[in-house]
Parts: sequence; structure tokens; C-alpha cells
Amino acid sequence: MVLEDISTYVDDHADEYIGWLQTLLRQPSVAAQNLGMVEAAGIVQRQLEHIGASPRLIDTRGGQPVVFGEVSAGADVSDPRTLSFYNHYDVQPAEPYDLWDSDPWAAEIRDGHIWARGVSDNKGNIVARIAAIHAWQQVRGELPLNLRFIIEGEEEIGSPNLANFTADHPDLCAADACIWEFGGRALSGQPQIHLGLKGMCYVELHAHGANSDLHSSLATTIPNAAWRLVWALNSLKGPDERVRIPGFYDKVLEPTAEEQAALERLPDDDAAGLELYGIDRYLLNLRGMEKKIRDSYQPTLTIAGFESGYTGTGTKTVMPGAAMAKVDMRLCASQDPHEIFELFKAHLLMQGFGDIEVRLLSALMPARTPLTAPIVEVVSTAYRDLYGEEPMIYPTSAGSGPWYQLCEQFGVDGCTAGVGNGRSNAHAPNENIAVDDFILGIKHIALIMERFAASTAVSQ
Ligand SMILES: [Zn+2]
Repeated sequence: MVLEDISTYVDDHADEYIGWLQTLLRQPSVAAQNLGMVEAAGIVQRQLEHIGASPRLIDTRGGQPVVFGEVSAGADVSDPRTLSFYNHYDVQPAEPYDLWDSDPWAAEIRDGHIWARGVSDNKGNIVARIAAIHAWQQVRGELPLNLRFIIEGEEEIGSPNLANFTADHPDLCAADACIWEFGGRALSGQPQIHLGLKGMCYVELHAHGANSDLHSSLATTIPNAAWRLVWALNSLKGPDERVRIPGFYDKVLEPTAEEQAALERLPDDDAAGLELYGIDRYLLNLRGMEKKIRDSYQPTLTIAGFESGYTGTGTKTVMPGAAMAKVDMRLCASQDPHEIFELFKAHLLMQGFGDIEVRLLSALMPARTPLTAPIVEVVSTAYRDLYGEEPMIYPTSAGSGPWYQLCEQFGVDGCTAGVGNGRSNAHAPNENIAVDDFILGIKHIALIMERFAASTAVSQ
């Protein structure tokens, strides 16, 4: 059996570790509402102190502080490797409270699960990592590698100040690999690994007509801001789902043969998806490999919201003086959000929509870690040996986040690992994890530490 000594210790001290998790869960920490953030950072700091990680709060130039901690390898380890953990102590708001079966801040244990806001996203993972190190220290003493914690307080509001932290402290971001904040089991129960995130270019468009909404009889001669914006949006993408901005696809790459093979190994969940979403076919009738490639290797351009004129019940014959739309673009490969924003503006200008005001609201670079990175082998065999199942390996997640900022720009390989599952209800009422998965997640991190410390291969 792998990791027998530490595994036994973790089982014997499960209640203590669950107690650590409940302490953190019972402290609300909602960055969007600036609720309990100082207190939560304090609890994380104390738990890191407990494993000798010398934690400190690092200013992010105005945002919530990053809790940074590190534990060095034992003195007899020559040329130790460094593994970092990226996590976040902020959580989503718990509202609406009446949809929860128990108080989201009570961390109740029921039916073998812990129920609390943030237990899956992301406090269960924070405490599982700290507990793994604690158990290692109790059983084996000093660590076989250096560990670093970068635990930010603004992930759920888009990490607006994390770039300040990475710019001010590049030395603290150095590592041989980084365990990314989320992970766990798919709906089927099979563990899954993601090796990157898409980027993001989020824009807001404003069209202006007359200086106020007007009687719609004036539509004979006065421009309508809503039509103006609809025509501008219509120029961005066709019914063929192809984005029409010149240069938009220039930096998108096809998957390599290895990446194609990784996609082929992923289960076919096309039918389950159709049922889940209540639709009878996917866009362009995509199925199988074509759909997998599009999910992971193609960018999107999405109208996320549109506001103009009268949208209440009944009729109001009004002509809008203003219209606003929000558009998000999820980016792939080396599509740079700032370049894409320039192409976006140039396209509107070329199409005769220079009057439409365009604002960039958020920009994130896409980033991916190669399938051949040593950390991928370590995390995936640790899943296989502890969970008894091969993990599904996704070359990227269809979601976005600061993978580039923390990993790729510093040449650090990233890989996800965590204690969530397909029914964890992250961001939703009744967020939960299985108690058994929390305990397994502690052992998983300990096994990753053991194996990564022993690995010598370099990433290609
Ligand atoms: Zn989240």
C-alpha cells in the first residue's frame, strides 16, 4: 500500500483535520461584500504557522492581501525541488440563504458530506494541503522538498490585484511546479485533471442615439441606439459560429498529436450534456472529437448581456437613446487579450461603428501546461494509486483564471488536484464535499509531495 505510515496517521487524526476545516468554513469570507476577509486571512495564517510556514500577509496594492507561506526541505535533502500551491481564501456570496438546507456558515456534517459555502471552492483544498504537510511532519519529520503557499483573497472577483502581487514578488512565484486551486472527481466519480485555462477578453459596448429615450413615432428620422448596437454586434460573428474580426484566429493552434490522443481518451459525455442542458443538438451539430477539440482549442465570442429601452411587462412605445452590451471572449493558445481588444476596436471602426464606445473590463492570458510535464505524471499516478481509478486528463479547462500570471510567465508547470466532486455545487446553494474525499485529498497531496520530491525529469 502506498504511503502507509502517513495514511494511517491521517485516518487516526481525521477528526482533528475536519475540525481545522470547520474552523475556516465557519468564518465567512466574501470578497465581493468585503465580509470577514481579515478574519479569514488570520485563520489561514494561524494554520500555516502550525506547520512552520512562517506566513505573512502581502499587500497587493489596495486589494485583499495574499497569504504567503513556505516550508523548506530538510537540511539533508540535496538540491530540493520546490512545489507551490495556489489557492484562495475568499468564497462566493452565500445568498440566497433560503435555498440552503443548513446554514452555509455552520459547516454541518450530514450524510457523509460537509455542507458549507466555500468547502469545495476553495477552503477544503487549502486545509487538505496544510493537513498533508502536518501529517508528514508528525510521521516523517522534515520535508523532502520546499513548499510554497500563495493564497489570495480575490479569486472569486476575478483576481483583479493578483498581477500586482506577481509583478512585485516574482521571486516568491518561482517553483518547479504548482498545484492549482481546484480539482476532484467528475460526475461519474472518476478523478479529473486540468492542465490549463482559457484566457479572457471582456468588453462592454455602449451605443448612443438621442440624448434621451424618445417617443417611438420619432423613429422616422432619429437614430435608435438599440439598432445601432445590434448591427455592430451582428458584424462580430455569423450563424456559422465564425468570429468575423480579422486576425482573431491568427494565434489559435490546432492540438498536437499527443493532445489529440489525450482528448480521445476522455469519455464521450455528449448525450449526458444534451440532457443536462435540455437541448436536442449542439451548435453546428458537433459531436465526439470535433466537439472536444472545439471545447478545448477554439476561442469563443459570447454576448453575455444586452440592455436597452423598455423591457417591463406590457407595451411602451419608446425609442432607446442608449444601449449597452457585454461581450466575453474566451481565448486560446497565444491569443493576447490586449491584442484581441485592439483587433475588436479596429474591426468596429472598419465596419463603420466608430461611434460605439468600447471598454475593456477584464483581460487574462490563456495558459497551458504540457501533457509531458513531470507534475502531470505525479498527480495522475497518485490519483490512480489512491483512488483506484485512472484520472481523466483535460489538456485545458474551458474556464478562465490566472494560470498565465502564476505559472506560465514564470515557466512553472501547473496541475489541478482537489477534494471537490461533480455535485459539489460550487457557487450555488448546498455546496458540499464528501468527508471521505477530504481525507483522501490529504493523502493525495502527501503522495504528490513524496513522488514529486523524487522526480528528476524536466518538462519539455
Ligand atoms: Zn469559484
